[in-house]
Amino acid sequence: MLVNMKTLLKAASEHNFAVPAFNIGTGQILNGVMDKCEELKAPVILAIHPLELEFQGDSFLKMCIDRASGSYLPVCIHLDHSEWEPIVRAIRTGFTSVMIDASSLPFEENIAITRKVCELAHPLGVSVEGELGTIGTTEGDTEGGTDDIIYTKPEDAVRFVNETGCDTLAIAIGTAHGIYPAGMKPELKQNLLSEIKEKVSVPLVLHGGSGNKDSEIAEAVKRGINKINISSDIKQAFYQELRKTLEDEKIREPFELYPSSVKAMEAVIEHKVKLFNDDDKVKYYSLSELQ
Ligand SMILES: [Zn+2]
Repeated sequence: MLVNMKTLLKAASEHNFAVPAFNIGTGQILNGVMDKCEELKAPVILAIHPLELEFQGDSFLKMCIDRASGSYLPVCIHLDHSEWEPIVRAIRTGFTSVMIDASSLPFEENIAITRKVCELAHPLGVSVEGELGTIGTTEGDTEGGTDDIIYTKPEDAVRFVNETGCDTLAIAIGTAHGIYPAGMKPELKQNLLSEIKEKVSVPLVLHGGSGNKDSEIAEAVKRGINKINISSDIKQAFYQELRKTLEDEKIREPFELYPSSVKAMEAVIEHKVKLFNDDDKVKYYSLSELQ
């Protein structure tokens, strides 16, 4: 069943788990994510970055909506890191959640544009994620970020949420997008997370958690992160396996090329779902709550 982010994360916040937001980008990844999450009874977010949407076109979204609507899982379809114009298009085409990423703008401008997105989205039942502070970037990453991470200040987070009305907040506590290079040792500021959680009423989001240690991620979930974005980790598993399959030059049928890649990716999906304590959580969503 297709739901918005506010509905999806309400239960996550009450029962202390994090829903994974997998960047899907292509049909094989969409099906792998949905099949595995259905098997694990794990609520899920299908995240699509504007670059992925531009590549696939709006008909891809129709496919996602069809898959989400036909599922017994609560599923949110979310536009990842975006600006105003793709957001307007996304709301028109059926996304149930959008992220306005104005974190590189001055604080007041970030508040103003995030509030404007909420004013557009909320009457239509679409949820809004804002971002405060900056998430790092690594080589080869296409999602954006900065070389220097600016950590989210708790008092700014309170003001930001109050003045924008956003439904979820992405915070910067020391992660970077992409796969971390050897030698880079990311460390999450867990105390900062607890401080923000104590003061802010909306669910908190962690981006760029692909390369962090499992123990750090599990601790962040315990301390109140309710949505974790995963892109690089599943794509890495999928395409590394595909490279191996492609070594056999005789194989050319999609139904022969992709199954082992989907399987390799599903192993990562299962690991993340369990790490986030998201497995078997469908029980917290009653049908009446979702309508
Ligand atoms: Zn991100």
